[in-house]
Amino acid sequence: METVTSVREMKARSRAWRKQGLSVGLVPTMGFLHRGHGSLVERSVAENARTAVSVFVNPAQFGPGEDLDAYPRDPGRDAAYLKSLGANVLFMPAPSEMYPPGFATFVEAPELGRRLCGSSRPGHFRGVCTVVLKLLNAASPDRAYFGLKDAQQFFVLRRMARDLDLDASLVPCETVREEDGLAMSSRNSYLTPAERAAAPLLRKALAGAEGYLKGGGRDAARACGIVKETLASEPLFELDYAEAVSTSDLVPLSVIDRETLVAAAVRLGRARLIDNVIFDPSPSGPARKRRGGA
Ligand code: AMP
Repeated sequence: METVTSVREMKARSRAWRKQGLSVGLVPTMGFLHRGHGSLVERSVAENARTAVSVFVNPAQFGPGEDLDAYPRDPGRDAAYLKSLGANVLFMPAPSEMYPPGFATFVEAPELGRRLCGSSRPGHFRGVCTVVLKLLNAASPDRAYFGLKDAQQFFVLRRMARDLDLDASLVPCETVREEDGLAMSSRNSYLTPAERAAAPLLRKALAGAEGYLKGGGRDAARACGIVKETLASEPLFELDYAEAVSTSDLVPLSVIDRETLVAAAVRLGRARLIDNVIFDPSPSGPARKRRGGA
C-alpha cells in the first residue's frame, strides 16, 4: 500500500488505474479507524480493482468550540490496518493541501443538511459536502462508500451527487456495532467507563421505536416518544434530538407511510453520539431500494 499526500499524486494514481481499465473505490474517513470503517474498505476491495482510503480530519466540518484539535488520530495504526485489508492507496493530505491559502469556494449543502444534526451543527454539512466533492475529484472513483451510522450525511451527499451530476455512485453500508449494540465511532474513545456503560441505551431506545414500527405502529410521535422516554431514563444523557423523518427530504412525518429515518443524538460527557434506524413500511423494504437508489 502506498501513502499519498498530495492531490496531484492522488489524481495521477487514479488516472493510471483508469488507463489500465481498473475500477476504483474510494472510502473517505477521518481516521482513528475501527471495524466500521473496515467494513467499508472490505466492501470497496471486494467490488473494485483498486481502493483508495482517505484519512483527513476535515477542519471545514467542525464548528467553533467543537473537537477539531482533540479529535483522535493514529496514522501509524490506520496505515497498518488498511494494508491488512488490502487497500491500495492511503490518501492523507495535510489541511494546507486541501485548503491552501486563499481557498474560498464551498459547496452549499442542500436544505436537508439544515435538519437533524444540521440544526445543532450549523455549517457542518457544508464542510462535509465541500471535502467529499474535493476527495471525489482527487480520486475519481467509480464508487464511494459511506456508513449509515451517519445516515443524514449519506442522504445529503446523495442529493449533492444528483444535483451536481457526479459520476461516482455512492454506496450506503450498514452500521457496524460493538457486541452490546453501541455503534462503533472514533468518538467513543472520549467516553469514561461510566459513560461507556450507559452508551448502548441509545441503540436500545431506537430499537424500541423499531419494534413499535415493525409491530405495525405508524404514529411518528409515538415512535419518537419511545426513544425519548428511554433516553430520559439515563441521567448521563442530554438529548439533542429524536426525530422521525422522511429519508427523501428529512422532513418530520406525523404518519409513517414511507421510508423513514428515526434518528437520535445525545450528548454523553465529552462525546456527542448519534444513531438511527431506517424503516420502510412498503413490502420491498429499505435495503433493496437503497442499493439501487444511490
Ligand atoms: P468518520 O471517520 O467518522 O468520518 O467516518 C468515515 C466513514 O465511515 C463514514 O462514511 C461513516 O459513516 C463510516 N462509519 C463510521 N462509523 C461506522 C460504523 N460503526 N459502521 C459503518 N460505517 C461507519
